[in-house]
This record gives sequence, C-alpha cells and structure tokens, in this order.
Amino acid sequence: MTTPDLIVRGLRVLTSEVKEPGPSAIHISHGVIMAISKFDEVPPGIPIFNAGDSVVMPGLVDTHVHINEPGRTGWEGFTTATRAAAAGGVTTLIEMPLNSIPATTSARGLREKLAAAEGKLWVDVGFWGGVVPGNLSELKPLWEAGVFGFKCFLVPSGVDEFPHVSESDLHVALPELVKLRAPLLAHAELLRPIERAAAAAKNPPTQYATWLASRPREAEDEAITLLLRLAGEHNARIHIVHLSSASALPLLRQAKAELAAISVETCPHYLAFSAEEIPDRGTEFKSAPPIRERENREQLWAALQEGLIDFVVSDHSPCPPEMKQQDTGNFLDAWGGIASLQLSLPAVWTSARQRGYSVWNIAEWMCRGPACLAHLEKHKGDIAIGLDADLIVWNPDATFRVEPPLLHHQHKLTPYGGRELAGVVEATFLRGRRIYDAGSARFGGSATRGEFLSGPIGSALKRDTP
Ligand SMILES: [Zn+2]
Repeated sequence: MTTPDLIVRGLRVLTSEVKEPGPSAIHISHGVIMAISKFDEVPPGIPIFNAGDSVVMPGLVDTHVHINEPGRTGWEGFTTATRAAAAGGVTTLIEMPLNSIPATTSARGLREKLAAAEGKLWVDVGFWGGVVPGNLSELKPLWEAGVFGFKCFLVPSGVDEFPHVSESDLHVALPELVKLRAPLLAHAELLRPIERAAAAAKNPPTQYATWLASRPREAEDEAITLLLRLAGEHNARIHIVHLSSASALPLLRQAKAELAAISVETCPHYLAFSAEEIPDRGTEFKSAPPIRERENREQLWAALQEGLIDFVVSDHSPCPPEMKQQDTGNFLDAWGGIASLQLSLPAVWTSARQRGYSVWNIAEWMCRGPACLAHLEKHKGDIAIGLDADLIVWNPDATFRVEPPLLHHQHKLTPYGGRELAGVVEATFLRGRRIYDAGSARFGGSATRGEFLSGPIGSALKRDTP
C-alpha cells in the first residue's frame, strides 16, 4: 500500500459517511485522499496536521464568481480573487463568462482569459462559457476547449459585451447544448415586469424600497416559467442562478417533480439580509435580483431545507467602490453586485446556526451541491477516498468582525462590513498542500498552486462526458 505523504486529523472530521463530525484521520498521497482511518490509526513517521477541536470539512466549491480579468481588472482579478477564496475556505471556483473583456462567448475569449489567469491561481479555477445572440457556432468550440457549461441573461446584464437573449435565441441555442450535454445557467429575470415597475416608480432613488420595487418578484417568476417551459420542450438541463423570489418556489417544486434536469441556487446575501434592514443610501447591498423582504428570506431557508434549492454560492460580483455611488447613495445608478467570496462560509453559517442547521448542512449546500452542478463530484466537494484532498479547518464557534484589513478582495466594500460573523477559517488545503494559514495570516506556496479545471486544456481533470 502507498505511504501517505500527509495526514490531516482531528476530533471533528466531516466525511461523506457521517452526519455529525467525529474523530478521524485523512491519509493523503499526491494530493488525493487515499484512506480515512480512526484517529489513532496512523503509520509512524508521517507528517501530521492536527486540527484539534476544529471542524475538518471539504473545501468550498463556488460555481458563481465574477473575476473580471482581463479587461476590467480594476474591478477584481485572478490574484486577489483566488487569494480571497483561499482565505475564505473556497478551494474550487468556476468563473462567470461576463464582466471580463472579452467576455467568454468564444473560444478566443476563453483563450484570452486563460492567458490572463496564468500563474495567478491560488485555488483551482474553471470557467463557464456564455450564450449570447448570434454565438451558436462558438458553443461547441467553447465546450471542447473545456468550459463547464453556459450562462445566459434574459435581461440586460449590465455590460455591453454580454447582451441578453430572447426566447427565440434560446430556441436556437438549446438544441446545441442538448447535443453537447452541456447545462444552461440562466439569470432569470424578464424585462417586461421590470418596465411595468419602472413606470410606477415614485420614491427617491436613495431609498432601498425604490430599488426593490423596480425589480419585482414577477420578473423572476415569469422568467422561471419561461425557462421551465423551454427545458421541457427541448429536454434541456437548466440551472437557475441566484434565486431571490420565493414566489417562484411552487413553480420549481412542480417542475422538479416532473423534470429531473432542473436545479436552483441562491446566495448568501439573500439568506443573511432582508430589505427591511437595508438603510437608505446603502448601495453596497444592491444586487440583481434584489435582496427581498424578511418573509421572503425565511421561505428561501425553508426551500433549502426541503432540498428544493440545491445549493448556495456567492455570486461575488465586485466593482470599484466609486461605481457603488456611495457619495450620492443612488440605488438606480449604482453597480448591482455584492462582494462576498471570502465571506461566503461565515455569512451563511452565522444565519444557518441561528436556525438550528449543522455543519453537515453547510457541506451539503456549499461543497457537495455545487460540485454536482459542475460534474466535479468525483474530484471535489467531499471527503472520501479518491477525491482531491481539498480541505478546510474551521472553528464554527469562533466569531470575528469583518474589517477591511482582513479582506483579500481587491476592493473592501461589502455589505458584511462591520458585522460580527461566526465561523473562522483556520487553514485551507488544496490537493494536500496548505495554501492558507490563519494563525500566521499567511498564504502558503505560490500563485501557481491552483490549476485550471477543464476538459482538454492543460488540466488534471477530465470532464465526465461521453
Ligand atoms: Zn453573477
């Protein structure tokens, strides 16, 4: 039997086999978990990392991250984003196709992104491609070049390089995605309800209620109705990103009962905040779709518990602070996006534990669930033999205050600023190497430790398709 090169052990290890963390030792060889034994069953002479009472859990998989490089590197970049990920316990992230220039809507765009990311990855990174009007001929080349699936918008995305699609565009694109067996990820809001709401808007733009009223639940509900119909017509695999509207939940419940190929995510900000608590001029809370009322938030929590919402990912979408219009406090002019990649775990955990959820729920929602969307479940998102040794050691009982010096995002503005959160990441391991150590506040190794996750392009992972 191979000798492990590292053992990570602790009293509260959360493997896929158990609902409660317990004493265990994880044996790692060449970055892969080769065995899981009782705490004391370790061969002599092997380096051991002792996690003590802290929880050892799979590294988080965040399938919804906007890094913006190349082209808008002043908003965020691969170095800052992947360091923030490592410090936040995220060991795998899949990057969204928009906000960079070029957008990842062609194989050339993907090549430019890979070139921009070269040598800057502290964690493993993969890429989504984009469906935009007229790029049908690029979908197969993008898929063959290693994207994990395709994202589209049903409303203007906020950037000119990534126009939104109409229903007729999707009737063209979906048969191709079905042929490729690639999932479609959709920003589900429709324009017509938003235009109706704009015509009725009266309140000043510095009030959060104005932004909320401008993006009504119907915009999401009608878009989801359309997407579910298209999924049925084309037998397509469709994933709804960043669900905010709880009134879409009955539609999704019925569709999931009838169609296996529908999945749904929500984000930490929809679970942590409510519209009632957002102050006037608090534009750091602006996202699209918006954070809704408290009663809506509690329905999202119930849907997570039910398994109707499959998982939670950050939708980290930062911008330079001046684009958040903090000086004017104008919600309608501010960039719609929330910075939270590093804070995803404590943000969700702080709210989850208040509602009686366990660290096992966190692993389901933030590790195993998103790994399945990207078909990475044989490599990522769990502690089991044969999977990558992507591990985090964290203390769910410790708390910290979110202060700018702690944050490794390029820009420090976040709605979590100044808040006390529970859940401190103490160490992060990527394929058996310690890439972050909170004790010394240090990143280990170098920015070349992360790998590109993809199919044929220079990757250790092969996508699981025929
Ligand atoms: Zn997004």
